[in-house]
Amino acid sequence: MTIHSRLMAANGGGDPFDRHVFACVLSIGAAEAPRPLPHAVGLSPAELARLVATFFPEADWLALGGALDAGPDSPEEADLRRLLEDHATRPNSDESRWLAAMVARRSLKPSHLWQDLGLAERGDLSRLLRRHFGPLAARNTRDMKWKKFFYRTMCEQEGLSICKSPVCDDCSDFGQCFGPET
Ligand code: SF4
Repeated sequence: MTIHSRLMAANGGGDPFDRHVFACVLSIGAAEAPRPLPHAVGLSPAELARLVATFFPEADWLALGGALDAGPDSPEEADLRRLLEDHATRPNSDESRWLAAMVARRSLKPSHLWQDLGLAERGDLSRLLRRHFGPLAARNTRDMKWKKFFYRTMCEQEGLSICKSPVCDDCSDFGQCFGPET
């Protein structure tokens, strides 16, 4: 049985979709052992323990790791975390803070973001972003690849441009920014 299945099979709290998302992220983070789980998912040990106590109270078998969080993996991680928190659908909710940290930490991985988060499909990522970071997700009107969209948004906020063209339709990088994330 996978870690995701074990987490979902037990009794738990919280919204069922959020529970599924957290189970996915914890599952892919745990697969990176011996990297401590808090480092892998971007939460402090205390925050991770609180998340598990809320959503998976029977998961006393899950190795939460005792090490302090080593801090952001890169300067961009903190910027992305802030961008998400600033656009939370329910500002300061635990779920939004936890997900902002997780998305920012896992976005440094090399695959599509939904894969980096251990989700089953891209649709789950779009759903969680619209649910928890609605004001930001609503700005991705053309369904740009999510990592590209985040970094383009952060660059725009800084007055920078990573784009080769002012118009996406005329850009030679169009295929890197749009299209299926499979
Ligand atoms: S397609 Fe080109 S112009 Fe559009 S976001 Fe990507 S890099 Fe920028």
